[in-house]
This record gives sequence, structure tokens and C-alpha cells, in this order.
Amino acid sequence: MTFDTLKFAGEEVAALKKDNRFLKPRVLESAQKPVSVIDGKEVVNLTSNNYLALADNAKVKKAAIDATRKYGVGSAAVRTIIGTMSIHTELERKFAEFKHAEASILFQSGFLSNVAVCQSLMSSEQDLLISDELNHASIIDGGRLAKAPRKIYRHKDVKHLAEILETPEARKARRKMVVTDGVFSMDGDIANLDEIVATAHKYGAFVMVDDAHASGVIGKEGRGTVSHFGLDGQVEIQIGTLSKAFAAVGGYAATTQDLRDYLGSVARPFLFSSSQPPAVSASCLAVLDILLHEPKYLKKLWDNTAFFKEEMKKAGFNTGDSVTPITPVMVGDMEKAVKLSNRLFEEGVFALPLGFPTVPRGKERLRTIVTAGHTLKDLKFAVEKFKKVGKELSII
Ligand SMILES: *Cc1c(COP(=O)(O)O)cnc(C)c1O
Repeated sequence: MTFDTLKFAGEEVAALKKDNRFLKPRVLESAQKPVSVIDGKEVVNLTSNNYLALADNAKVKKAAIDATRKYGVGSAAVRTIIGTMSIHTELERKFAEFKHAEASILFQSGFLSNVAVCQSLMSSEQDLLISDELNHASIIDGGRLAKAPRKIYRHKDVKHLAEILETPEARKARRKMVVTDGVFSMDGDIANLDEIVATAHKYGAFVMVDDAHASGVIGKEGRGTVSHFGLDGQVEIQIGTLSKAFAAVGGYAATTQDLRDYLGSVARPFLFSSSQPPAVSASCLAVLDILLHEPKYLKKLWDNTAFFKEEMKKAGFNTGDSVTPITPVMVGDMEKAVKLSNRLFEEGVFALPLGFPTVPRGKERLRTIVTAGHTLKDLKFAVEKFKKVGKELSII
């Protein structure tokens, strides 16, 4: 089928291909597992965000199936019409407890949680949104939908943050919100949330932390960055996703009861997009229960992380400054990163190459994430293949 009116699409695709930016995802033909079937081949999967390996967990799956039996497959309504099911309110209550917050509100994804909060709270030209330069795309887009002007501070640079907060524009702002990722998704470093909170509060700003890669991963029982720094009760808004360690899909904001109630009445993704399917809420409740009562998953995740990082460093790879299960393998050139990924795939290991605009030009890399489900044998196999192909391509 061709339309003259859509000729530009073919031209755009050609331009993307020329710039190595055309994306053609590989296809997963099994559950998201430590060893998965991808494009018809069984490979050690180092690319998912399935940190705790619970996406295919029997208890979690049973919870989803039971909830489907009881509540059906969907709510067929937005939350504010008749799409609020008792399983949603139960998850919101338990999630607030988990985050040591007064209340929480569910959204359909982490992306939409950021959009909802940024747009709702930064709703006037007199507000000011202040964001780390490496924050996630959904924070950037949330900021674009907000009416408030935006200021960007250099990555984790609290001096720069303070400079911005000291400007006349910031001093006279109606509301000031400082936003940071908890764990930065590309480099795997942790935000200096203690310093950020102290700086923000000194100038009367409030803080929103996006714990997408931190919830279920860092802090006591995986409670996230606030718990990691012992900042309970000091961070106004904790955002996150239910699609990574929580293995399903959805997002949340854990905060005060008042702010939760406000978002529940004005946040556009909450008001104008249907609620999470009940099976999803049930899986998240099951994951919460596992986090609180079965510490073995979190322990295995961190044991695997330490082992893999150590072995990759020993092999001579530049793995950046990550202190989390995210281990970037720096390459510095997209063509080479793609080659490395493709050769590894042939050898039975899947690690995704990442380039611009996901990471800056010159910082092209493979990003690996180990999970609690990988065996030592899987990881040793992956390291051996990395060494073999890394030498072949003169990366080490
Ligand atoms: C993955 C991610 C999101 C998006 O979460 P989804 O639930 O997949 O929409 C938001 N913020 C950060 C920091 C992320 O890493």
C-alpha cells in the first residue's frame, strides 16, 4: 500500500538507517527468563529489567490468574468513572506502606506517572521544574507538558542545583520541584539523594525521585533510593514503575494523602486513560509479598551483580561507574556496538546495543543487566563470550 501523502515516512526511515538509529527489535518467544528464546535461539538474556526474575515466577503467575478469574481481564473504565477496583486500592495501600509514605496512586506505566506528576504539579508559568541532565525521557516529556519553565542541572551536581535555586527566577517561583532518577538507567549510578534533598529543602523546593530502576533493587527489602539513604519521611514524592523488578506493568507515586488526593482529581493520565488490568495489580501484590518475606531473590541479584562486574572488569572491559545491577560495556561507536551485540548473539548471549538519543554520541555501549535468575554458569558463559568477541573486535 502506498500513499503519496506518506512518502516522507520512507525518507525518514532511510535517514534513520543511515544514522544507525533505525530500530528493529529482536522478538522474545519465551517468557522473560535468564535464558530466553529470542528470534528462535536460546540465549543468556542480559537485557531485561526483570531484576528479581519474577516475570515467570509461579506464585506471581498464580496471583494474576486468580485475579483474572475473580475480576476479569480489564476494568473497561478509567479510575474516576468506575475503573477503580478493590485490588487497585489494596495495591495503593500496600505500596504506600512499602514506601513508608502516607498514600500512593497507581498509573498505567512509569512513563505516565512522570507525565502525570510533572504536568499536574508544575501547572503554572510561575512554577519551576529543575531536572538532572540525565533524567529519563518520560521526565523530559512530562516537563514539556507542564506549563512551568524548566532548568537543567549538571548530572548529580548539587552546587549547580543550588546556583539555579538561588536565581531570582527560582526565588520568586510559586512552586519549585527538583526531579531526579534514583538509579540512572543508562549508567547504573545512584543519585546523591541526601545532598539533593538537603539542597532542595534549603531553598524551599520539594523533591520527586523516579525509582524505576531502584524499586525492588536497592534499599531495605528493595524499598528504593529513599530507604537506601535513610531518608524516610523526607522525600515528598517517590515515583516508580511496576514493569522492572515488579515484572508486570504500571507505575505509582507514593506521597502524602493530600497530594495523592489532588493527583487523583486532576492528573490527566488518571482521568482519561483506563486503569491497570486486575491481573497486573495482583502480580504486583504478589511481588510485594515476595520482597517482604523472601529475601533470597534480592540477595541473589546482588551476588550476581558483584560477580559479573568483577569478571568483566578483570577481562579488561570499561564498565563505567555503575554500582547497581546495570553494567554498561562501553564501546564508543554505534557500528561497533551493534557488531559486538550481533556476534555475542551468534555465540548465545543477548546484550542490547544503545546509541543516540538514548545515550550521548561517543558513549555508545552495550547495556547489560543481570537478574536474580541467572546461575553462575550462565554468567560465566556470558563473560567467556564477551572475552572472545571483545578480543575479536579489539575492544579489549
Ligand atoms: C523505565 C523507566 C521509566 C518508564 O517506566 P515504564 O513503566 O516502562 O513506562 C521511567 N523512568 C525511568 C527512570 C525508567 O528507567
